[in-house]
Amino acid sequence: MLKVKNLSVHYGGMQALAGVNLEVHDGEIVSIVGSNGAGKSTAINAISGLRKLTSGTIQFLGDDLTGLEAHARVPLGIVQVPEGRKLFPLMSVEENLLIGSTHREAKQHRHETLEQVYRLLPRLKERKKQIAKTLSGGEQQMAAIGRALMSRPKLLMFDEPSLGLSPLLVQTLFNLIKQISSQGITIMLVEQNVKQTLQIVDRCYVLENGGISLEGTGEELLNHDHVKKAFLGM
Ligand code: ATP
Repeated sequence: MLKVKNLSVHYGGMQALAGVNLEVHDGEIVSIVGSNGAGKSTAINAISGLRKLTSGTIQFLGDDLTGLEAHARVPLGIVQVPEGRKLFPLMSVEENLLIGSTHREAKQHRHETLEQVYRLLPRLKERKKQIAKTLSGGEQQMAAIGRALMSRPKLLMFDEPSLGLSPLLVQTLFNLIKQISSQGITIMLVEQNVKQTLQIVDRCYVLENGGISLEGTGEELLNHDHVKKAFLGM
């Protein structure tokens, strides 16, 4: 579904990513894990079109995305749930959700998708008239996910969705990601919460100092010595 080849990104003179290669297949949950500053957000932003590449190519369902603006990638099915949720604080939950369905195909199916989102996230239905900024952190994360689902993604990408959530909510969130996956949506997940991430993914890439240092199934990496030492505190 997604093929990233030789991706490099610079911020001015500083190289954040150096020759990253990765693939995501239809129906998979794939994650990129790594510590602070490793380049995870840069990688996901390059895929969604929010960050310009220095070099490399990104192919999605056979189309070359390189150079395509972020808004033009959404109708193709690449949608990102941004770090920090980025809801419109003074708008209601439902208004925030509807903003996710502005491209033509999503608009056509707006009511049906909204009902699907409310079925998946009933709390959002209960709170549909509530102003977004008054939601709890967990509810805001759900609303940001609901808004992304309103775009009818094929590949849904999450940037650090567990950030700032309590352990119980993190578990709820990871269950939700699995549920979304079981509905046929392919998932790319950037996380610092390595243990729980490896428990739900099909495959994972470890990003260190701007490059992929390891890749494998969740289980392989959970049992890998370097992962255990560097990320699992074992
Ligand atoms: P975090 O979990 O802290 O977000 P990350 O793995 O997502 O870390 P990135 O945010 O992609 O890492 O950052 C990779 C490197 O690029 C870091 O050294 C960071 O300081 C730098 N960087 C990120 N954004 C910018 C920017 N807008 N301008 C300059 N440097 C940046």
